[in-house]
Amino acid sequence: MSNENLGVIERKATIFNIQKYNMYDGDGVRTLVFFQGCPLRCKWCANPEGMIKKHRVMFKSNLCVNCGACVEACPVGIHTISNETLKHEVNRDIDCIGCGKCQEACPKSAISIVGEVKTISELLEIIEEDRTFYEVSGGGVTLGGGEVLMQPEAASSLLMACKQVGINTAIETCGYAKLESVLKVAEFTDLFLFDIKHIDSDKHFQLTGVRNEQILENLQELLRRKYNVKIRMPLLKGVNDEEKDIKKVMELLTPYKDYKNFKGIDLLPYHKMGVNKYNQLGIEYPIKDDPSLKNEDLDRIEGWIKQYDLPVKVIRH
Ligand code: SF4
Ligand code: SF4
Repeated sequence: MSNENLGVIERKATIFNIQKYNMYDGDGVRTLVFFQGCPLRCKWCANPEGMIKKHRVMFKSNLCVNCGACVEACPVGIHTISNETLKHEVNRDIDCIGCGKCQEACPKSAISIVGEVKTISELLEIIEEDRTFYEVSGGGVTLGGGEVLMQPEAASSLLMACKQVGINTAIETCGYAKLESVLKVAEFTDLFLFDIKHIDSDKHFQLTGVRNEQILENLQELLRRKYNVKIRMPLLKGVNDEEKDIKKVMELLTPYKDYKNFKGIDLLPYHKMGVNKYNQLGIEYPIKDDPSLKNEDLDRIEGWIKQYDLPVKVIRH
């Protein structure tokens, strides 16, 4: 192995999950690697544990028997048993150092620690375990997050390592990064799953904490440079489902309609799968009402998109 390759596979990525046998995020059967840290704060985020690039304690109070083993184990005093209630409490004002001792000590698996540093070679080894599934199904690896473009060096190294051993690669991204970072990973990416969360920049800012000009510019640059891109549109009732906004997205995409590298649009209806994680992290869930769309709403939105003769599919989990 060359020194350059050795440097690449020893590079480190901070991740918070690896999920196998996924069928939604790219073609075929896929292994998802979730990179930690995200520049956006989407109110509906289903992976809140991946937002901050820090170790976090996830605590399932329903499993805890208040035995105090984690209190003994933690070197920085994050876990306590309250003198008043005799119940376990997590002090979130103290920074977790990610030693994992509380997780090991807990007899009820009530604790998991978010955030793990792994080398590219360690990740590649895990990804390669399912090579047979990828080969049979046309699948591969998808890097998501958090936001994978927050770690462009690690991401491009992992993607390159996968390509070198013949594994198909995709990334799922919000697109909010310098163009330079986007192009760095693009070289080794077979498919971008690229989010458009709102076409109106002011509303995008209200919903996610960032404006969308850079995102839309990066998207168009990828399409112009002939990288494969599939658009993903998370949809929430009363938030980003207005006809005029959907149509503006289609007007943006129409010039690329006949490009072979434009792979269509997936609609991702709001779901509540991440809600429990907010409790486990001690964070309030930011969405108060239920912005779920009914099937007839989704059919209507699909119809608007079809007027532009653009390929569209609703992804129902
Ligand atoms: S991982 Fe270590 S520092 Fe963090 S809460 Fe557990 S024992 Fe304490
Ligand atoms: S070790 Fe587990 S079961 Fe015991 S108090 Fe801590 S979280 Fe609860």
